[in-house]
Amino acid sequence: MKAVVLREFKTPLRLEEVEDVKGLGRDEVLLKIEMTGVCYRDILTVDGYFPKTRLPVILGHEICGRVVDVGEDVVEFKKGDRVASLTYIPCGECVECRRGEENICRRRLWFGEDINGSYAEYLKTSHRSLVRASEDLSSEAVAISACVTGMLIHALKTKGRLTQDERILITGATGGVGVHAIQIAKSYGADVIAVTGREQYIDRLYKLGADHVIVSRNGVYSNEVKSITEGVGVDIVLECVGLNLIESLKSVRWGGRIIQVGNIKPEPIPLMLGHFILKEVSLHGSLSCTRKELAEALELHRSGRVKPITIVLPLEQVEEAHRMIRERRHFGRIMLKVS
Ligand SMILES: [Zn+2]
Ligand SMILES: [Zn+2]
Repeated sequence: MKAVVLREFKTPLRLEEVEDVKGLGRDEVLLKIEMTGVCYRDILTVDGYFPKTRLPVILGHEICGRVVDVGEDVVEFKKGDRVASLTYIPCGECVECRRGEENICRRRLWFGEDINGSYAEYLKTSHRSLVRASEDLSSEAVAISACVTGMLIHALKTKGRLTQDERILITGATGGVGVHAIQIAKSYGADVIAVTGREQYIDRLYKLGADHVIVSRNGVYSNEVKSITEGVGVDIVLECVGLNLIESLKSVRWGGRIIQVGNIKPEPIPLMLGHFILKEVSLHGSLSCTRKELAEALELHRSGRVKPITIVLPLEQVEEAHRMIRERRHFGRIMLKVS
């Protein structure tokens, strides 16, 4: 089959011919991949930021596929089913998995890092990762439903407890996460302030539903947030970038919360803990989503309230796709069409 294999960190990516997937375990499912999303995490993986990555590995964890074969213990899925997948395989047995928090399963296997991923024609997975996706959904919607839509449901609803009429600040608004976060926050009834460094996209952000757009080229935006919110600050900051926690801290109201979902430069940052104490601000890390949230994400796409904003390239153009993200030339999620 054809696949994109990361053999060494920091090397260019290309499509190559590799051995077919074989030997399906009792609880395993073989998928034919339709579409895969390109995540900033893939860039960090290529750059070697996750040292536990098991090289060589096929990249990719944002999956839309169709079942072509199932192991003998799999009863929930059958050949021909169209599926969305979690970004990992949960163990299904640990305390977190039993509590329904499989996103933080300590034995989870992450596609494209711990095990082979979806930049390939076929993927071997477990039924524990899958949710059936209806035929009327686009392959883009299915592929972003875990790492983007489901992740945002987890961040905004489960962790952030975003309620109607609250004000939310979304950083990195033109990125693959940001453009969908605006739509999801609006579907929850929130008032959205979007921050971007790219002036040319102001109109598109308003069209997606943003109530205010702040253009900030130097990473400073708290003064504008303050003036939009009459000096109060926003209830929630959804931090998709991870470069400006201090600005986010200045932008959030007393008693507000910051939800950290992105970190494009994984390096230590200086912080004044006193600001968290004195303003009673809480900081939540938020990772991916559970199977229940993945099912909810698919429903949200079916309702039409969240539309995939994507740029689709063929899998052969994987290196170009990564370059577009590195050079910030994209608006929305870049996807690779596999079949
Ligand atoms: Zn992702
Ligand atoms: Zn587990």
